[in-house]
Amino acid sequence: MWRAARCVWRAGGGRQLSTSAVAGQRQAAQVAVVGGGAAGFYTAARILARNRTARVDIFERLPTPHGLVRFGVAPDHPEVKNCMSKFDQVAADPRVRYFGNVAVGAEGGDGSGLAAQLPLDAARAAYGAVVLAHGASRDRHLGIPGEGGAGGHAGVLSARQFVAWYNGLPEAQSLAPDLLSHDRVVVVGHGNVALDCARILLTPPDELAATDITAQALAALRASRIRHVEMVGRRGPLQVAFTTKELREMTRIKDLRIVCDRALLEAECQSPAGAEYLAASRPLTRMMDLLLKHCESPSAAAAGAAEKTFTLSFLRSPIEVLYDQPWGDAGTVPQLVRFRANRLEGPPAAARAVATDATSASPCAMVLRSIGYASVPLAGAPFDAARSIVPNAAGRVVDAAGQIVPGLYVAGWAKRGPVGVIATTMQDAYRTADAVLMDIDNGHIAASDETSQEAVDRMLAAEGVAAAHVTNDAWKRLEAFEAAAGAAAGKPREKVTDVATMLSIIRGEAK
Ligand SMILES: Cc1cc2nc3c(=O)[nH]c(=O)nc-3n(C[C@H](O)[C@H](O)[C@H](O)COP(=O)(O)OP(=O)(O)OC[C@H]3O[C@@H](n4cnc5c(N)ncnc54)[C@H](O)[C@@H]3O)c2cc1C
Repeated sequence: MWRAARCVWRAGGGRQLSTSAVAGQRQAAQVAVVGGGAAGFYTAARILARNRTARVDIFERLPTPHGLVRFGVAPDHPEVKNCMSKFDQVAADPRVRYFGNVAVGAEGGDGSGLAAQLPLDAARAAYGAVVLAHGASRDRHLGIPGEGGAGGHAGVLSARQFVAWYNGLPEAQSLAPDLLSHDRVVVVGHGNVALDCARILLTPPDELAATDITAQALAALRASRIRHVEMVGRRGPLQVAFTTKELREMTRIKDLRIVCDRALLEAECQSPAGAEYLAASRPLTRMMDLLLKHCESPSAAAAGAAEKTFTLSFLRSPIEVLYDQPWGDAGTVPQLVRFRANRLEGPPAAARAVATDATSASPCAMVLRSIGYASVPLAGAPFDAARSIVPNAAGRVVDAAGQIVPGLYVAGWAKRGPVGVIATTMQDAYRTADAVLMDIDNGHIAASDETSQEAVDRMLAAEGVAAAHVTNDAWKRLEAFEAAAGAAAGKPREKVTDVATMLSIIRGEAK
């Protein structure tokens, strides 16, 4: 039975559109999705499930789909990657076309120079709706002296790039992290990405050998001298952003001692404000219990001359990175990161780090900054540079004046910033898809027919996309190649890590 629905379309302070629609009558529509990550695939899945006549084209700048599920999620978390089978089902739907190796609205190209470039304006003119789901492919900087390197040193590396290096993202393969010139790494940040980096650096390489970590990264980790990782945060134990599951994994690493300032930990947990805060949060209570159970104070760990340590440092902000510095009996250390000590102000839920005069320093082979990802603007789409997101009202893109940009939508990390796991991204993508579906029903998105399908194909041919793109079948050939190479090495896949080789395998040129 069909039912008339009324929709009010408003973006904070912008114009208001009110229109009647027949909710059950779903018009055919052609939707382009920019980005073949979790948000792109979940948006497509929802649109296809709720509108049987919609067609979705997914554009991905790399030949390979799956975004951070392939290039971010840690190799020793294979269960998290099960969502790829859902993405495979979406890609196999006859109403979906996968266009790998096509960058949409990418300023400065895709990085490899091998992808076709599709201007966003051309896509918007041909499709009824374009959903931006291009994620967050940049990272935030510390903004401190020495961060950019000196004296031949590359400087502070981003955890994003380090993760991308061990996961095989083509543009990160020249990273060459220093795992040899000292036995310590400093990671700035107290989130799950920081913990992923620490865990990969401290896990015995034999235990990673059966994962899909790249052969190059595994070889470097086998040769690594790193025995100590210090993870530094500006606030206290009650403000950490990582989760208990990831912390528990650290407690299970063989021969690893976990170190932190126990006196501070106990004081924070037992203070009246801390106890009240913990009483209101079972997850945080579990996390603090785990820390209290496993953490040793620095002096106890030193007395035991631990072979490997993972140190959680609180109330410290980096202020400078120096290179080739004299350091006690050690002679010269490759990097020295200097910290300012902080104290906390305010209740635990909103505690602010306030600088004190005290300073300290840690020697290391390299510093990884892990203080958040940031999205990048696409040419032809509004961008909120302060928040590093595409500005939107519940998934509908809005311009600087708060007006809805007709036919343009955003989902995932590009929409709400780099927070949330895959399940959160899925929910978020569904909300954006629902906005698209509503606008199809309300006639805000042009209904498509055979003529508009032909117009899309003409536009793709004119822009050089039709000739250069990687289809889903072609990607599946590459995936089969990776699986076969992985099987030979006892791994789920051996990723191909450069775009030119990917393309030659796909085109049947590789031997
Ligand atoms: C290091 C790390 C580890 C994580 N581990 C977990 C975990 O264990 N469990 C969990 O649930 N979640 C995890 N997450 C979170 C999860 O990865 C994200 O929630 C999710 O990937 C966000 O999806 P997205 O589609 O918004 O972005 P992405 O996954 O980044 O997808 C965006 C896609 O868009 C493509 N793209 C970019 N620009 C263009 C363009 N101009 N044209 C065409 N395509 C473009 C990119 O190549 C990419 O494929 C992790 C995240 C990180 C960073």
